[in-house]
Amino acid sequence: MKNFGKKIIINKLTALAKEIELASKKYFQEDSPLLSDGEFDSLVARYKKLKKENPNLVPDNDPILKIGSPPSSAFAKVEHNVPLLSLSNAFGQDDVIRFDESVKRFLGLEFSHELDYMAEPKIDGLSLGLKYINGKLFTAATRGDGKIGEDVTHNAITIRDIPKTISNAPEVLEVRGEVYILKSEFNKLNEFQRSKKEKIFANARNAAAGSLRQLDSEVTKNRPLRFFAYSLGTISHNLASSQKQLMKVLSNFGFTINEDRHSCRGVNQLLQTYEHICNKRESLDYEVDGVVYKVNNFSYQEILGARSNSPRWAIAHKFPPEESFTKLLSIEIQVGRTGTLSPVAKLAPVEIGGVMVSSATLHNEDFIKGFDNAGNRIRDGIDIRVGDLVSVYRAGDVIPKVKSINLAERTIDSKPFFFPNCCPGCGGKLIKQKDESVIRCHAGLSCRAQVLERMKHFVSKQGCSIEGLGKKQIISFYDLGWLSTPVDIFRLKLNHGKNSDKPLEKLANWGRKSAENLFDSIDDSRDLGLERFINALGIRYVGEVVSLTLARYYETWTVFHKKMLNIARGKTDDFEELNNIDGIGLKSAEELRIYFESKETEKLVEELLLEINVTRSVSRTVLSPVSGLTVVFTGSLEAMSRSEAKSFAEKMGAKVSNTISLKTAILICGAGAGSKLRKAKEAGVKVLTEDEWVKLVKS
Ligand SMILES: [Zn+2]
Repeated sequence: MKNFGKKIIINKLTALAKEIELASKKYFQEDSPLLSDGEFDSLVARYKKLKKENPNLVPDNDPILKIGSPPSSAFAKVEHNVPLLSLSNAFGQDDVIRFDESVKRFLGLEFSHELDYMAEPKIDGLSLGLKYINGKLFTAATRGDGKIGEDVTHNAITIRDIPKTISNAPEVLEVRGEVYILKSEFNKLNEFQRSKKEKIFANARNAAAGSLRQLDSEVTKNRPLRFFAYSLGTISHNLASSQKQLMKVLSNFGFTINEDRHSCRGVNQLLQTYEHICNKRESLDYEVDGVVYKVNNFSYQEILGARSNSPRWAIAHKFPPEESFTKLLSIEIQVGRTGTLSPVAKLAPVEIGGVMVSSATLHNEDFIKGFDNAGNRIRDGIDIRVGDLVSVYRAGDVIPKVKSINLAERTIDSKPFFFPNCCPGCGGKLIKQKDESVIRCHAGLSCRAQVLERMKHFVSKQGCSIEGLGKKQIISFYDLGWLSTPVDIFRLKLNHGKNSDKPLEKLANWGRKSAENLFDSIDDSRDLGLERFINALGIRYVGEVVSLTLARYYETWTVFHKKMLNIARGKTDDFEELNNIDGIGLKSAEELRIYFESKETEKLVEELLLEINVTRSVSRTVLSPVSGLTVVFTGSLEAMSRSEAKSFAEKMGAKVSNTISLKTAILICGAGAGSKLRKAKEAGVKVLTEDEWVKLVKS
């Protein structure tokens, strides 16, 4: 058994080592990454951890010792007199604090001493060493493996930011810096590549690396390469005594230096600068993957020296990864309020985009099996299994998603995941619709999971927002038989108040005060805005945005309800009207019709309206020359996008529709308007240009 465990670890280490080596080669030598930086870093971190725990099982071919890359044989070799080292990384505040402490320990300074540092954005480009002899550019070399780099002089001379001659330079001068491409120019470059059917670059860094490492300098010449200078190959006391001074010297030599650098005293100022650069990251026109801190004083730098791979006087504080590998611990099936079954990945907690993530969506059964919604193979058709390493990412603030899997840690005894064949919430039958990849439980109100989800949705912030009534309370009241529909919430005080047979205050964990508080907050929610009420009903494809659109359009519950009942009874013109509201799709319209057709809905709504008072949509208070009018946009607008124009019109109290009808009051016409304009003229609808419309609204 012990040997078996050993075997597994050796297999894991070897498999991880292979993955790292391959990814590293693709990244450094072929400039076409297999993995994102975050994914690569997380694999390396896993490997290092496993290696540390099992120091005697490390494979001979340890890839960590040779990250970076041997120079490609396509280029002549250049030896770096002073190794061109990479920086060690800090992944969090603690690492930075430890770095600062270790520097002071090494220098024999008091821990209370506040050291001077220079902090600057870490540009995601390619390091380049430029050697000048008697002021003339002699060689330009990539990092390579740190000791020997590739000679790319013929390409470097095509970069405008790199001076070819320097006046008043020392006899030998080596300047180091980063070759990069601006984000804006990167996009143009890819557009150009696409038009020529040439290789599309994955990111600006790869484009920069691929452009610099060209055999034909004519190609490099036409690439928008730039260069920031930031250090010297040798620390020369003759030139400067600190990093801060050096930057001035480099600038005087004619180099471009990054203006966004900061002098910092002590570790707290470093961390503040990090925040500052992190916040403006998106607005910078170059890719930044962290902040570099350098001990400012050159005599300190000299004492500190270097380890085998990195200097002791600098560190790169990396931004949180946007995606990362982590272990899939289990797959849970959640039942949504409309009966949809969603598989959720429970993960070993991992930091992504600065947030700890411990679960991610797995979309549906097909996704787990290795197919997309259209039945095409994804991930080469490899399925996802519990125990796998999965790469997780967040896009915006939405639920984290699983991007890919890595088989390095999959063991022989791992088993495919089987989707349940009955509902985990009620044991009911599952149905998979032909044209949908989702599986649903159709038990409706007899499915415990669905009822609980509907109830949770009803009381949520976007619904009637009842403080003190959360998931835990709902489950406990449901299991006691106190709540089975949202109506019961508003009867809780009547049925379970202090003078009732089963008073809430007598339940475990409840008391007089907390029970009163809950009843009060339920009473507070009896006045409910129309959009919140519609959303609270939990109709499929009718979420927050659609509810708001409906509330703005129909204004009052009476009108909305009447129209919905007409639609349910088959009145086609009302259905048409609904379907024509800008922002309402056919799917939502269909679901609304189905919802209001049901007897169950009729009863629920009737009972709810005895308990609550639905108020007009709050956003309809604006009085403007267009409030209440139905307007249609057509053609392409100049001043704003269609969606901006729409939300502006709604803010001004207008209703926006997609088609010309008897209700249309104004057609706003942009360039290239066609059939709608004709129709509007036929129907005698007022037609305005974009300018006229803006003037009218603002009058
Ligand atoms: Zn069910």
